[in-house]
Amino acid sequence: MGRVTSAISRLLSLVYPSKCVCCGELLDKDDEVFCRTCYDRYENAKQEICSRCLQPRCRCTCPSFSLGKAGLRRLVKLYKYQPSEGDLPENRILFALKQRHLQSVFNFIARDLAEAIEDALTPKEKATAILVPCPRSDRAKAKNGYDHMERLSVAISREIDFPVSLSLRRARGGRMQKKLSAEERRTNVENRFFVTQPEDLAGKTVLLLDDLTTSGATLLECRRVVKAAGAARVIPCVIAVSGRDFVIRPRKTRKKGKSYKKKRPTAGTQSAPRPIR
Ligand SMILES: [Zn+2]
Ligand SMILES: [Zn+2]
Repeated sequence: MGRVTSAISRLLSLVYPSKCVCCGELLDKDDEVFCRTCYDRYENAKQEICSRCLQPRCRCTCPSFSLGKAGLRRLVKLYKYQPSEGDLPENRILFALKQRHLQSVFNFIARDLAEAIEDALTPKEKATAILVPCPRSDRAKAKNGYDHMERLSVAISREIDFPVSLSLRRARGGRMQKKLSAEERRTNVENRFFVTQPEDLAGKTVLLLDDLTTSGATLLECRRVVKAAGAARVIPCVIAVSGRDFVIRPRKTRKKGKSYKKKRPTAGTQSAPRPIR
């Protein structure tokens, strides 16, 4: 009997973590993937205000700076990724999604992302919506034993009832994006993606799913390929976005050597004195 119980608990631990995926503290029975403290910190990251639209990150659809500059108007996301602080709950859960086979982590993120997608789409877009994960490289799949974005797409589909298409594929080869510069990332993904069944995507609102966007190179290349396959519109959806907000500051139009000192009003330029009332 004891052996059966321990086998069941081992099996359950594959689905539900017993410890917080961030700090490793033992979870209470109501906790899903985070302890109470880490959950609050994760929620705070989602509620952080976007400096462009002044909405919480998980509700705003502003593109990141690199995507906005490339002409993209909408990006669904949950929070901003802080690369220098690996121990934050929002960073640790991305790691858990990739490396640990925990279905509860997929369900947890899927619920949040499904909510953000529901909010961002118009009824017309929802009617033709289809979930398309950006495919991992063969090397990444072999390393982790699964494609985490494929699994996440299936989990999101259970929440919002949009179909999933796996017809966007990735050719073999290429280097790890993580270690490359922005320009190298762009050439590394160029012509690396293809669509196996264009009829899946023709006329559809494609929700292009990825975990994290930094330079935007992968999303932009996938978007180009999906559009060429006949998609009506492509809306990238990510868990986290890295880099600055898409806020355009006015350019300074100063010319070199020219003095811009405020001129003192002379008799000719002086404005008429205000009438005293
Ligand atoms: Zn914790
Ligand atoms: Zn915004």
